[in-house]
Amino acid sequence: MRNKSIAVLTSGGDAPGMNAAIRAVVRTAIFHGLKVLGVRKGYEGLIKGEMFEMSLSSVADIIHRGGTMLQTARSPEFATPEGREKALNMMEVFGVQGLVVIGGDGSFRGARDLANMGIQVIGVPGTIDNDIPYCDRTIGFDTAVNTVVEAIGRIRDTTSSHNRANIIEVMGRNSGDISLYAGLAGGAESIIIPEVNASVEDVCKRIMHGRNRGKLHSIIILAEGVGGAFEMAKAIEGKISVETRVTILGHVQRGGSPSAFDRILASRLGAKAVELLLEGDTSKMTSQYRSEIGAFDFDEVLSAKKEFSGEIYSLARILSI
Ligand code: ADP
Repeated sequence: MRNKSIAVLTSGGDAPGMNAAIRAVVRTAIFHGLKVLGVRKGYEGLIKGEMFEMSLSSVADIIHRGGTMLQTARSPEFATPEGREKALNMMEVFGVQGLVVIGGDGSFRGARDLANMGIQVIGVPGTIDNDIPYCDRTIGFDTAVNTVVEAIGRIRDTTSSHNRANIIEVMGRNSGDISLYAGLAGGAESIIIPEVNASVEDVCKRIMHGRNRGKLHSIIILAEGVGGAFEMAKAIEGKISVETRVTILGHVQRGGSPSAFDRILASRLGAKAVELLLEGDTSKMTSQYRSEIGAFDFDEVLSAKKEFSGEIYSLARILSI
């Protein structure tokens, strides 16, 4: 792979820390004598040949920036064999021998397809959802959790003043991890996530328990994968007559300057991706798993189910009684 060209792209949902990962890929590659092309707008840009050479300075001043300087996209065309064939042709035209895909599990499915067509590909897990197997944390998750914890603090101030309950709907697609970790860190009274069945009665019981010992607020974290925030607010008001407001945090959770944790994780995983390309050890995702930086085959990652942190869930319930 030495003296050769690699390309890097970000795909799917954006996440804070993607820029730090791009920077790590570009600088590690240049350090090892590789030429690096940046691809704009994910697989869409690969199909259209939107690629440009990157230098040490093209990734200057981005480690602290949210979003992705390469932009990202969802590409329905790439999900077809014809679309992937076009991408492959374009990579040949630009003389690209290796590819780093920074994204989530959908992006890795596409990356695996490219690998099966003979391209050397490495995936780097970038998504706020923390929904990828064999990863302690995905890039962006820590920042999103911190954003939600800050929001919980602000909402608690106003909720306490009015003696209300507040349901906060949190992102994560089908994963409850952002809700779970932010709920524990923010001292939420209830955490409702797709991985665990919860009843309105249980939520009401916890609200009443808190009120009866003088608590002025009740924060209920509800994962978007469960949904139904407004219906739940109505159900709570109907059952226990506690005024209940809903806050949907939305895309604020996707933005912001990445936390130090995410910058470090992104730097390590981006660098590892280039090392694996240099070794020819590809068709893999880099990750930090059980505290070690390593790599797992796409096939293994894409067929496994993400472990659920039952211990964190139980702890959050115990500590918020
Ligand atoms: P994420 O990577 O964040 O999970 P998506 O699921 O939207 O985001 O996937 C990003 C892109 O990856 C899609 O627009 C598509 O081009 C490609 N992709 C997703 N799923 C597949 C699949 N099953 N096969 C091939 N390509 C896919």
